Formats: sequence, C-alpha cells, structure tokens
Amino acid sequence: METASSHPIVWTPETAPASKRDVWTALKRGFRGRCPRCGEGKLFRSFLKVNAQCPVCGQDLTHHRADDLPAYLVIIIVGHVVVPLALMIETNYAPNVALQLAIYLPVTLVASLLLLQPVKGAVVGLQWALRMHGFDERNPEP
Ligand SMILES: [Zn+2]
Repeated sequence: METASSHPIVWTPETAPASKRDVWTALKRGFRGRCPRCGEGKLFRSFLKVNAQCPVCGQDLTHHRADDLPAYLVIIIVGHVVVPLALMIETNYAPNVALQLAIYLPVTLVASLLLLQPVKGAVVGLQWALRMHGFDERNPEP
C-alpha cells in the first residue's frame, strides 16, 4: 500500500502562502483615508498626495500606482447618478434649462471633488490587498 506522505512539502518562506489580505477591509479603510494594512494611520498627506509611509504601522505606501483610475471611476460613479437623475427630473417636471444647469453643474463638481479622495484611497487599498505593483513584499519592484 502506498502512502501519500512519501513527498512531504517543505515549508519555507518562499513556499508558505502569503498572509491573506482582505480586499473589502482594505477598500473600506482606503475609502475612509486610512492605511489599508492597519486601518489607523492616515493614507493622505494632502488632498490627493498619498503618504510615503503609514505613520502608525510603517507600511510603505509608495508602491501604489493609482494614476488616473480614481478620476475615471469618479466620472463613472457621478455620471451614473447625475445623468439618470437629470433625465428623470426632465421627464417628470421639465423645469427650465437655466435652473437645471444651475443645479446639475455645481452638484456634479462638488460630488466629484468629494469622491476623489475616498475613491483614490480605495484604489490604493485594492492594490495593496491584491499585492499589485510593489505591495508584494516577496516580489518587490526594482
Ligand atoms: Zn498602517
């Protein structure tokens, strides 16, 4: 009778599975502007500038590559709220165009500005959780 244990797996730091990073937790922490690893340290040092390091746990945050993705996402999110709303109001109430523009344009602008930082934080959190770019400590970017 053959045994299955004839080739035992040798556990080394290379073969051990990397500790799991919860995507939802990281997304939520990033959305709140917190470090995706500890949830405590501030992620941003200014409106859209990501801290080089988490001030609490020391996580290196320079690995993120958010680029234009947060801006695209904000356009998609805001567009999917404002456009249907505008169409619905036009269909049901047909208020005059000047009034509509006076409401939709500032609402779009303010909503976009309010969402930009949380969405960028969520993108950084996602990249951290998925070990994208340099966020994989076992395979650091040069
Ligand atoms: Zn941290």
